Amino acid sequence: MAVAKKALGSMLSSLRLIANALENHRLAHAYLITGPPGSGKQHFMERCSQLILCDDPRFGLHPEPCHICNSCVKFERRLHPDLLQLAPDGRYIKIDQIRSIQKMLSFAPLESKRRVCTITAAERLGIDAANALLKTLEEPPDNTYLLLSAISMARLLPTIVSRCQIITFRDEINSTATNREFGIEGVPEDVVPFLKYVSGKRPNLANELIESGILDLRQTLFEFLGTSRKKELFFQTSQAISNPKENIEHAIKIIYTIIRDLLLLKQPEPSLHELMVNLDKKQELIKLAQAINYDSLSEYQDRIEKASIYLDRNVNPEMIADMLLMFWLKTTKLKTG
Ligand SMILES: [Zn+2]
Repeated sequence: MAVAKKALGSMLSSLRLIANALENHRLAHAYLITGPPGSGKQHFMERCSQLILCDDPRFGLHPEPCHICNSCVKFERRLHPDLLQLAPDGRYIKIDQIRSIQKMLSFAPLESKRRVCTITAAERLGIDAANALLKTLEEPPDNTYLLLSAISMARLLPTIVSRCQIITFRDEINSTATNREFGIEGVPEDVVPFLKYVSGKRPNLANELIESGILDLRQTLFEFLGTSRKKELFFQTSQAISNPKENIEHAIKIIYTIIRDLLLLKQPEPSLHELMVNLDKKQELIKLAQAINYDSLSEYQDRIEKASIYLDRNVNPEMIADMLLMFWLKTTKLKTG
């Protein structure tokens, strides 16, 4: 499948870029990895972090940490003291979070020769936090490497962007593949990107998802999102997405794509709008995007990730459904519907 190969290629070539710089002692002190939600930024940051911390990394065409050194063992147990990970606490990454990282950075690495600090969703750095971080970027401590991720550069302070090397992931899931190219039948062409996304570009899984009713479920969710009668439809929608139990798993996937599209529509660069996957729902999504602010969307994205964890822990599906739908009652005030 050409599309999957391309996405993988971008991950691999970016990893080679980092590995090559590492091998030649030219690693930049800060990298900013940009790309739409789900394009693999987080996975890439993890792989880079382990590679940078590894005592005996393999370079070449397929860069790989050794997986056996002390550093790799600790990394894989998520216990590496020289990996500092930062993510928004609520809506923003706060200045106190940056300060506590800076305090740790004032000491030498504890275990490895190098140290890595990752900052997820850097577009959610509060202004004070961003300014504080700037000091670290201006004078990075020795052997310290920062990896930042963001949907796009546009929401970051230009002074931060200018101090980072940029790596861009473009998961072109909605490039013009037809049904036949993707291996599914009987759905409109503009639904294909959604199916590609939720199936991880696996046609067999996409067909299974169609059979299990994922498109009807998506329709139910869009009807709920588009109406001003959300309170009236709440119970009915909550039931529909949690019963049978498998539906909640689908619903989480669907809502994730919706948030992903809305976050893209909120970006100032029109080229990012084109990466949305619910193409057949573009008009509805544009309307929704106008009704919700960016920060609450980002926060909701975290909540969806929590919902997946709850699901794994066998939390009651109806509770998860209520939790997911509640957000829309509070945040959107659509007059039409
Ligand atoms: Zn290693």
